[in-house]
Amino acid sequence: MLARVEEPARTPRGIVVPPAPPASSPAAARTMRANRRRDTAPELAVRRELWRRGHRYLVDVTPPGTDRRRRADVVLRGARVAVFVDGCFWHSCPQHLHLPKANRAWWEVKLASITERDARTDTALSAAGWLPLRVWEHEPPAAAVDRIEAALAARAGRRRGGRPVAGPAGER
Ligand SMILES: [Zn+2]
Repeated sequence: MLARVEEPARTPRGIVVPPAPPASSPAAARTMRANRRRDTAPELAVRRELWRRGHRYLVDVTPPGTDRRRRADVVLRGARVAVFVDGCFWHSCPQHLHLPKANRAWWEVKLASITERDARTDTALSAAGWLPLRVWEHEPPAAAVDRIEAALAARAGRRRGGRPVAGPAGER
């Protein structure tokens, strides 16, 4: 089980994460550096599969009408679908969650703050008429894109009175 920590401070903007302790090892430092914001391998795989199936999209942009600090990894503008390719570690995938042993209490707060921020991002997107869609980095790209296409079809059907369309609107 997870180590018990004090309930972290919560503010309207989210959980307050204390400053990061020094990396416990060179490997831990690499983990921190690996928190790249865009163009991760899983992201590229999902984008390639979307492209192969004829979809066109924007990459690493803020869905119009939402908080400019919150970028989505893939934005299908016409259908208003915002896709996030979530890394298993940083976004606490239930299959692969493992907290580092060193600085465990800090990591618990840090990862909880990311989960909470994700939830707030999704709520804000929904409120602005977007569909937030999260896929895990461990998902096979074809399965992830199947889910994205199902969402696109559902939204297209809803907007067009049940008539599905091929591909998202607003392609470039
Ligand atoms: Zn995972």
